Amino acid sequence: MKVTEHIEKAKGKTLFSFEIIPPQKGKNIQELYDNIDPLMEFNPPFIDVTTSREEFVYIERDGLFDRKITRMRPGTVGICAALKHKYNVDTIPHVLCGGFTKEETEYMLVDCQYLGIENVMALRGDAMKHQRYFEPTNGGHTYATGLVKQIRNMCEGKYLHETIEKADDFNFCIGVAGYPEKHLEAPSLDFDLNKLKEKVDAGADYIVTQMFFDNSKFFAFVKKARAAGINVPIIPGIKPIAVKKHLQLLPQVFKIDLPENLVNAVDACKNNKEVRQMGIEWCIEQSKELKEAGVPLLHYYSMGKSDNIKAIASALF
Ligand code: FAD
Repeated sequence: MKVTEHIEKAKGKTLFSFEIIPPQKGKNIQELYDNIDPLMEFNPPFIDVTTSREEFVYIERDGLFDRKITRMRPGTVGICAALKHKYNVDTIPHVLCGGFTKEETEYMLVDCQYLGIENVMALRGDAMKHQRYFEPTNGGHTYATGLVKQIRNMCEGKYLHETIEKADDFNFCIGVAGYPEKHLEAPSLDFDLNKLKEKVDAGADYIVTQMFFDNSKFFAFVKKARAAGINVPIIPGIKPIAVKKHLQLLPQVFKIDLPENLVNAVDACKNNKEVRQMGIEWCIEQSKELKEAGVPLLHYYSMGKSDNIKAIASALF
């Protein structure tokens, strides 16, 4: 079922969903299942599966090191298929501009169609670790808007090199990213909102936000988006703080602000066990307020470990 249909069917009730990251290449999928199992009692309508950018690795050959580009966490579509089959849940693969040609994207979407996957999340992807800025892949898209257009075109039977009169069952529901505190590269929030509107006008059906820790930022973002004519569902994406290092890491990587009282509370924790508990409590309070405000769905970034998400969901769903 499509995300928008799940939201409609819930008739105003807030739903629970989460995002997982594929295991590192060569690792067993069991650990992923062990982390998903405890969350299934909260009836997520869907699970998102991220796609990773390629990165440089050094491979030793005869004492010499060769630098190779590789994707360390491949398997997004395969994992979507495995989870769909195992848990009878909708799964949403993240489709990236970075690292993929338009042809590769077309083939990936055809695989999704065969697997009965009805939703995809269309994203540009970040710059690779060694790059200062995002560089489009040869033959790939520069912005997520182009990717949304490609997916929407395919739904209308317009493939890259041919037009098929009737695109059987090819009718994806498309999600895109939104940034309550603006995307890190955007010169202003208004600029970023205009670009978000372009993604929606190109055919996106719903928005999932970047994490935020201050609900007032989310509420202000939704208000501005509505004023700008963005009328699709806006789903808050949230993440519990889990380790003290997040105090530096999250603002650095995502250019988001942490509220002073959260920073002080985490800073006062004696160890990461206390931080994890503090992160859970903050996230419960945040989620309660968002739920009371009537958000359609609370989407959690699990980052591979689910004990904290389970504690949060237990308090809310
Ligand atoms: P875009 O919408 O293309 O925007 C990127 C930047 O370009 C913005 O600053 C925007 O304002 C600007 N822009 C857009 N269009 C134009 C234009 N025409 N002219 C000039 N500027 C423009 N990353 C991964 O690698 N894998 C994942 O699985 C993944 N999942 C994510 C899920 C969610 C919910 C979110 C919020 C992010 C996720 N990301 C993921 C991170 C995402 O790839 C990065 O945030 C990336 O830097 C931007 O992606 P985007 O789709 O928002 O890009």
